[in-house]
Amino acid sequence: TKPQDADGSIRLTDNDAALARLSAVQKNYLSDLFIRFLVPRPHLQAPRPPLINIGTFVRTTAIDDLVHQWLSLSSNAGKKCQIVSLGAGSDTRFWRLATGPLKDQISAYMELDFPEVTTKKAMAIKKSKDLSAVLGDPNDIKLAQGGICLHAPKYHLLGTDLRKPMSENLGPLVSETTPLLDPSLPTLILSECVLCYMSVAESSAVLQWFREYFKNSVLGCVVYEMFGLEDAFGRVMVNNLKSRNVTLPGAEYSSDVNVLPKRYLDIGFTTSRALTLREIRRAYVEPEELERISGLEMLDEVEELDLVLQHYAIISSLAVSSQEGLSLWEQ
Ligand code: SAM
Repeated sequence: TKPQDADGSIRLTDNDAALARLSAVQKNYLSDLFIRFLVPRPHLQAPRPPLINIGTFVRTTAIDDLVHQWLSLSSNAGKKCQIVSLGAGSDTRFWRLATGPLKDQISAYMELDFPEVTTKKAMAIKKSKDLSAVLGDPNDIKLAQGGICLHAPKYHLLGTDLRKPMSENLGPLVSETTPLLDPSLPTLILSECVLCYMSVAESSAVLQWFREYFKNSVLGCVVYEMFGLEDAFGRVMVNNLKSRNVTLPGAEYSSDVNVLPKRYLDIGFTTSRALTLREIRRAYVEPEELERISGLEMLDEVEELDLVLQHYAIISSLAVSSQEGLSLWEQ
């Protein structure tokens, strides 16, 4: 095979994420009716090790919970809500939400990724009745920009390089005369394993753009990242990626989870807090769920599990324009 250019190698990380999700679904950790339409030959894909399945379960459940909380809070505030997923890759969250109990709470859902990734996803959507039926009437699902983008009444898939200045690519698209995102509505940014591949300055510029665009509303931000790369385990992770031509200009090397919120507070988020997946598994996953998943597969590497989960964190931040808004949203 041809050696990948650096961006090609970054794009390939989406295959890992999709295969991990598929494996967690096939092994009954998670339920997701849609991932098999986004992975080529799903029945031929080998399952991932139990450690990866548990990690995928904890991360997905925790982010699902945060998204549900966000949608419920916006419902209490009498508002619909928008979600923007940065580096969405083959993520299925839109389809899971749009077929779930809180579907009417979402007024728009936007996914951004490199054009090569969004073109593939747009084709998969067009090809699969199961995926496109959720988006609405076939006449309302439109490809744009030569198939890089796809628009449906509530769903927008946009191809772009997030490292480019927002004013040059996304900005006009989002905020044109008929904006794809309404600046007055509460909006949640999701980013799962994406920001580490960009410099901190580049990803901060993206977040800052959204912060400014939604300055009169409420902006939430849920980021999932690896961190703590300075220790032996972290170095193994870095070297594994390096051998695949992937570098991590935006990753945090310190193993202190409490340093993670700083960059979000610096950008202007009102509050921010970070928890490791290890903490989340211990304190936030329902005991019945932990019991259930512990019976799914034999886990030999019990100590390694904590070590792996200790190297991933979810950082949840909030920007609101008033103190009153803060008390409403910070629950
Ligand atoms: N968020 C998805 C998930 O968790 O299943 C995919 C995660 S995958 C590890 C990282 C994704 O970020 C890839 O789809 C990649 O193409 C995207 N990405 C990384 N850097 C990007 C950039 N500069 N512009 C657009 N997308 C980018």
